Amino acid sequence: MSDIKIVQGKRMFDAVRDRGIIIMAANTRMTMVTEGIFQAAKEAKSVVMVELAKSESNLEDGYTGLLPMDLSIHTQEAAKKTGFDGWALHADHLTVKRGDSAEIDAIKSLVKAQIDAHFTSFAIDASHLFNFEGGDLEEELSKNIEATTEIAHFIKDHYGSDDFGLEVEVGEIGRKNDKGMVLTRPEEAATFIKALNRNGVEPQVIAIANGSSHGNIYDDRGNLIKQISIDIPQTVAVAKALRDMGSPVRIAQHGITGTPRHLIRSAFPHGDIIKGNVGTFWQNLVFDTFKVYEPDLYDQILEWTVNTYRAKYPTKGKEEIFGKMGKMAIKEFFDDIYAVGDDTREAITAQSRAQALMFFKAFNSYNSGKLLDG
Ligand SMILES: [Zn+2]
Repeated sequence: MSDIKIVQGKRMFDAVRDRGIIIMAANTRMTMVTEGIFQAAKEAKSVVMVELAKSESNLEDGYTGLLPMDLSIHTQEAAKKTGFDGWALHADHLTVKRGDSAEIDAIKSLVKAQIDAHFTSFAIDASHLFNFEGGDLEEELSKNIEATTEIAHFIKDHYGSDDFGLEVEVGEIGRKNDKGMVLTRPEEAATFIKALNRNGVEPQVIAIANGSSHGNIYDDRGNLIKQISIDIPQTVAVAKALRDMGSPVRIAQHGITGTPRHLIRSAFPHGDIIKGNVGTFWQNLVFDTFKVYEPDLYDQILEWTVNTYRAKYPTKGKEEIFGKMGKMAIKEFFDDIYAVGDDTREAITAQSRAQALMFFKAFNSYNSGKLLDG
């Protein structure tokens, strides 16, 4: 075990803060993308995070079919193969939906398994717990604050040091009301962080609702569309509110799949945002490769997904159903997916490498790995 070298999450966040760098956090739902991402990271001397959310990887029914230890081992193998050591292992969306003790206990069990699997960073997401009847902001956020505090203290007690990365979340990503997307206000983020700090919880990043959505998105006619809905001024205002109160907390941007790289490079507030989650993008890359290299498997995956979820999306076309729900096929076809031939794996590695380079350039993270040396 002594040869395991995974960067402490806090160290990575502290290294890049206020240098105009965004860390790419890749959700490797099918871990054959990791080798190419690590090749690129080594070449670009970039830091990178590998992450999966609770829905993707947990102790029973995560839809990638990977236990936390599986993700860790697959990622360590890619690290060894490529000789890359500038990565952290992050638990994305530890989602709290109800906040009752059974749910919190289940999350603690998962966190324990993630710590045992050498995860070095954690995202507590209790943003669903919003008290709409609250008298003031802190009352509205009280349940989120309470659940986040309890889980953060649990991590601290079991991690063995204060070096782990910590992401928290306020404002549910992608939530809409009758006026459109519900965005996080600067005072909401500031109130939330102040309350957590008072409870002895010191996150490095906060995820906010700023207009993005997770996954592939489609127009009314079922055409895949680009994601350009992120509200940049609102994001900058939230970061400013945090800076103004002297907080080291910066923003984690979720839902980047579908955002054109040239817009990330030219328009994203690098430094206000310091972590960028890229998930569905890598899944799309694998499935698109299967179309050419493993057409029979691809057809089976497509048919299974459409047949299983047609009832859920009665008015949607095949392509959109697959784009939204194809992730659920990963566990179903796990053995076939991980048994694909070397030529398929090579094609995935080559594309992952090229695409990761494009993200590192757009995120301004070339050479960020050198900051870990200091
Ligand atoms: Zn997310």
